[in-house]
Amino acid sequence: MNATAHILDGTALAKKLKDELKKEVARLKETFGGVPHLVNVMVGSDPGSCAYANSQKKTAEYIGIKYELKILSGDTTQAKLISVIKELDSDSGVHGIMIHKPVPDQIDYRAVANYVAPSKDLEGINVTNIGKMMLGQTRIIPCTPAAVMELIRSTGVKLRGKEAVVVGHSEIVGKPLSLLLLAQDATVTVCHLATSQAGRLVEHVGSADVLVVAVGKAGLIKGDWIKEGAIVIDVGINKVGSGITGDIEFEKAGRRASFITPVPGGVGPVTVVMLMRNGIEAFKVQQEAKR
Ligand code: NAD
Repeated sequence: MNATAHILDGTALAKKLKDELKKEVARLKETFGGVPHLVNVMVGSDPGSCAYANSQKKTAEYIGIKYELKILSGDTTQAKLISVIKELDSDSGVHGIMIHKPVPDQIDYRAVANYVAPSKDLEGINVTNIGKMMLGQTRIIPCTPAAVMELIRSTGVKLRGKEAVVVGHSEIVGKPLSLLLLAQDATVTVCHLATSQAGRLVEHVGSADVLVVAVGKAGLIKGDWIKEGAIVIDVGINKVGSGITGDIEFEKAGRRASFITPVPGGVGPVTVVMLMRNGIEAFKVQQEAKR
């Protein structure tokens, strides 16, 4: 590795955050006599999803949270999935619910996601929480954008007045992240496929003091596009041979950036911890509502 940038070690940050949450769960147990109980509802059981669920389970166990993986058969209908969600919603012993993605073709994820009660919405994907996030009124934030914000925060660099460029405008990463960056008074530009097709991607990337890329195309962002001294966060996950890589040319970008995340070991480990943090926030909201 010839990079001169400081490597933003997601695994180390995740460990620090997990230790903080572990202490918080111990305090909650003392105060409320219980711990958050989270349920991940998975339709079908593809190996990638199971591996991710396994890492959630390990993280929850470490923190002291109860985590349950509920696997439904791959041919589960949308109506059946909705009835499972409604049952979990009405179970006062369950504090957080997520629907594992991807879901099979017979399920409209967005339609089902809105059946998760806003107070139990582990991933912050219910329309109510998305709306509240725009107004800065929710403690439950989509996990990957929240992880990106934690990584940026760990640099100590303040976002106010900085040019922040997000590449990728998905519902789960790019769009919510742009709101979080805006809430910190960054000047935010969101790029996507049409930006590339218009030949404008290089110019936007080159203006970024803070660059976050969430596309899913290995090597899309060339190292020599990066502004000197930029903070560079790579959300992309691409299978290359037997390993995974991000969307940014890591070695070359690292010679220009001030901070850069590796893939793997950057955003991914922090994302899992953010899911747990949402579970703790959901638990607290529900306990406070009882008082
Ligand atoms: P998506 O697949 O829903 O959308 C891709 C986005 O990239 C769109 O906005 C599209 O317009 C844009 N895009 C496509 N080609 C482009 C191009 N040539 N130039 C510029 N923009 C282009 O996105 P997603 O679900 O947010 O996933 C993006 C990547 O992030 C994937 O690799 C995914 O695996 C990864 N991801 C990682 C985590 C994590 O926690 N580490 C979480 C979620 C997603």
